[in-house]
Amino acid sequence: LNMALTRIGLAGLAVMGQNLALNIAEKGFPISVYNRTTSKVDETVERAIVEGNLPVYGFHDPASFVNSIQKPRVIIMLVKAGAPVDQTIATLSAHLEKGDCIIDGGNEWYENTERREKAMAELGLLYLGMGVSGGEEGARNGPSLMPGGSYEAFKYIEDILLKVAAQVPDSGPCVTYIGKGGSGNFVKMIHNGIEYGDMQLIAEAYDVLKSVGKLTNDELQHVFSEWNKGELLSFLIEITADIFGVKDDKGDGHLVDKVLDKTGMKGTGKWTVQQAAELSVAAPTIAASLDSRFLSGLKEERVEAAKVFQSGGFSDVLESKPVDKAKLIDDVRQALYASKICSYAQGMNLIRAKSTEKGWDLKLGELARIWKGGCIIRAIFLDRIKKAYDRNAELSNLLVDPEFAKEILDRQSAWRRVVCLAINHGISTPGMSTSLAYFDTYRRERVSANLVQAQRDYFGAHTYERVDMPGSFHTEWFKIA
Ligand code: NAP
Repeated sequence: LNMALTRIGLAGLAVMGQNLALNIAEKGFPISVYNRTTSKVDETVERAIVEGNLPVYGFHDPASFVNSIQKPRVIIMLVKAGAPVDQTIATLSAHLEKGDCIIDGGNEWYENTERREKAMAELGLLYLGMGVSGGEEGARNGPSLMPGGSYEAFKYIEDILLKVAAQVPDSGPCVTYIGKGGSGNFVKMIHNGIEYGDMQLIAEAYDVLKSVGKLTNDELQHVFSEWNKGELLSFLIEITADIFGVKDDKGDGHLVDKVLDKTGMKGTGKWTVQQAAELSVAAPTIAASLDSRFLSGLKEERVEAAKVFQSGGFSDVLESKPVDKAKLIDDVRQALYASKICSYAQGMNLIRAKSTEKGWDLKLGELARIWKGGCIIRAIFLDRIKKAYDRNAELSNLLVDPEFAKEILDRQSAWRRVVCLAINHGISTPGMSTSLAYFDTYRRERVSANLVQAQRDYFGAHTYERVDMPGSFHTEWFKIA
């Protein structure tokens, strides 16, 4: 009872909460911790002792947990998104007082955060929805943090967040106040959508190199390690190289070949694609990544279909000359990079569209900066995105930034070669193919939409505009035809 009050509290001690609590304590902020299942409280306190007597204080009941924190109290929640968050808020707010603040660090749907922020405000409580990226390792050693909601609450814990976040030399801690309302959750959701895109594009590069180029896992490990020294340098390329090096501990060969080709998901990618549709923003690379996960789940159907289409039947389109491995590797690298530009362009455009709709005034360059460390999509590439928005904050699309435009022009031949090669070999590269289609649509002054509009006017009198005079026109096409 004589214990000094702690600076902050954390409720929800699964993977993320436990690690973030230890990180906060390690940065010198005494922290109180609580979890519905109390064994996790003891486990966390035990870890804090083992990891260097960190100032972590455990509580088994919510009242003493809340009362152990200095006022105004700040409590970070890291529980499952949805109903568990509402239940945790109810448990905690019964003991909170005016001016106290709750922060949801989970992958929450942004509208839930906005609903809760309003409900909390009626009780005189402050609320933040804070995206936390970087998984277990990031939470423990430095995540990328995306806090949105009450600016007052953000200012109150800014000193903690600045120290706890990943630190990137020359660009600072990976945290910034994102904006009002649910903007922190929204930005984290798009981050995850972009992550889906990156992972899919990398998987396609692997597929082409393995299935067409016949590279072995050892060769793949070498290729990805080399790529990680250049423009593709990133966490995901790095872990991919590592994966190819892991031998199966339960049998012969490499573990990656024993992993079932079926991808799981938790929903943020789906939300991103739903938002793209809601906002009428094209995000085909991210959508292709989601669709690929859906199709991967149809393992049994694919096994049957593979029997039906066993004979292939398209050997006539294959060139007879053998693939030049070195050239293929270099082409795939370029195709991956160019596709990645398209994917990020889509993600950024989604954020901008939402920001405009909600009046969030989000700073795209600043988001690229805080993604440079801590999070899953951290990459040297994000520095180029930051610079593009520094050059022109109003940039309509990353593709037309002069630097990115040049990079795409330099790579488009390789990109087209890879996509054609994959198609001719019957290897699906939906992410790369649709990225190229996105580019080819965006860069063309005139597309085929005139015909679609004519059809709409034909059957539905939806009218059309003309290229040569202003106004809205309708034609009774069927009478003329
Ligand atoms: P999780 O598996 O999503 O959630 C487990 C935690 O939620 C436990 O503390 C659990 O308490 C609590 N919980 C569940 N239902 C509850 C309820 N009805 N009332 C109170 N508490 C309840 O944990 P996590 O993986 O650490 O993730 C936490 C949040 O961070 C999630 O929103 C997740 O999406 C997000 N996130 C996760 C990662 C990651 O890599 N795992 C990365 C970024 C963000 P009990 O122990 O009592 O069951």
